[in-house]
Amino acid sequence: MGIRDIPVRQAPSPHKSTNPLGRVFDEFLRFCQSRSLFILHYCTGCGAIELPPAMTSRFDMERLGIQPMVSPRQADILLVTGYVSVKTLKRVILTYEQMPAPKYVIGICSCTVNGGMYWQSYATAKKLNDYLPVDLYIAGCMPRPEAVIAGMRDLRRNIERGTANAWRDYFLRYDHYLGNQQRLFGETWQTPVDVIAEAKHYNLLGKETQGEHTARLARHQKPLEALTLNLELREQPTLLK
Ligand code: SF4
Repeated sequence: MGIRDIPVRQAPSPHKSTNPLGRVFDEFLRFCQSRSLFILHYCTGCGAIELPPAMTSRFDMERLGIQPMVSPRQADILLVTGYVSVKTLKRVILTYEQMPAPKYVIGICSCTVNGGMYWQSYATAKKLNDYLPVDLYIAGCMPRPEAVIAGMRDLRRNIERGTANAWRDYFLRYDHYLGNQQRLFGETWQTPVDVIAEAKHYNLLGKETQGEHTARLARHQKPLEALTLNLELREQPTLLK
């Protein structure tokens, strides 16, 4: 199955400017955005092994304006590179929620599409897009660097056209994603990110943002406890007696 054959959900496009000058400006902005992308690669499985050649001198992803980034706070793309265990998925969701919008998710490897060779395992999450909005899958066990670069080009083209809007779906249908997360992790599952407040901030509070699962969240959510720093006051050794 090719990378273009796997259906991914598309959220509605943002409102387009009616002003011709505004449209030109929007297009220019999207062009610039698509030429400067920072990826955070979450190496969850064996597919991660193909990323170093894709990023370094042999295939040189940087010539496309794509570079690695160490922090989710400054990253545009989250790469999930293989099977995702239930435990790892919690970290993947936490990482995703910390990224600023607009943000994009690429599932690399067949394991992110349907569980791959771990489809029968009790310990893995089977379909990544049940828990997060995925922009693009790059299927294969494992996909070669050429396929990774082709996927990046596809995402870049979608950003330029203004059709890479899966991130909007997380806000518009947060209750759906949270419901799937709660089914896997238990109904007390919470993250420190207030997704509903963010949805309001981006003007993406839809009919399906809140529902039975977000209500459950409100019931179980505990405020995060402040970290306490316990310092023992000790007598300083006197150097000069
Ligand atoms: S698709 Fe193959 S290479 Fe990729 S994570 Fe699964 S088993 Fe590993």
